[in-house]
Amino acid sequence: MQPTEEYIREHFDFYNRTMFGGTLPVPPIHLTNARTYMGMMTCRKRVGLFGRKHFSNFALRISRRFDYTEAELQDTIIHEMIHYYIAYNQLQDISAHGPQFRQMMDEINRTYGRHITVTHRSSREERLRAIGPKPRPRIFAIVEMHDGQHFIKAVPRIGQRIIAMHRRIASSPQVKSWRWYYSTDPYFALFPSSMGRYMQRIDMAEIRPHLDASTPVFCDGRNVKLQ
Ligand SMILES: [Zn+2]
Repeated sequence: MQPTEEYIREHFDFYNRTMFGGTLPVPPIHLTNARTYMGMMTCRKRVGLFGRKHFSNFALRISRRFDYTEAELQDTIIHEMIHYYIAYNQLQDISAHGPQFRQMMDEINRTYGRHITVTHRSSREERLRAIGPKPRPRIFAIVEMHDGQHFIKAVPRIGQRIIAMHRRIASSPQVKSWRWYYSTDPYFALFPSSMGRYMQRIDMAEIRPHLDASTPVFCDGRNVKLQ
């Protein structure tokens, strides 16, 4: 599921009342695009007399990069709330997930049947599951050869480059037909865009659904426009 601010706020409120005695003020909630963490409680830290730390300006950050199960998202919120509780109450712990943290975590896990762990950094596996890289729009030609094979050629999104590649494809005797498309589908971001000669062979059955959602691009060797 995708986290929303409303969902986080509602659950924050519920856990605050049930697990933290309703003592925590609702901090600003920020949805981020981080791939390095699922959740993070941020705050300003001042070190006072005798090295005693003082925390203020709390904010709760949840990354929307991950495809969470509902339980994972809830555990992430609670995990961050434990950090918040410790910092807000100026309790001193020896490390981020020190004895203070673990004691609260264990108690909440036991009492409420949760599965909170001390990791809130995303694991490699979770990063792989993370919703892919930023969409990179692509302009590409799907080329059909006389022998029935299909190829894809992505080019830089510059009119003159598209026209140049269009002419090059047109001059190749093996080519039967071709069409240009524009897409922001991350599927196409996997094909490198270049002016080189290399074209990647494709399986039309696999590419078809992505192609159907793409925008045809008109090119006649002189002009280019999105259709
Ligand atoms: Zn943590």
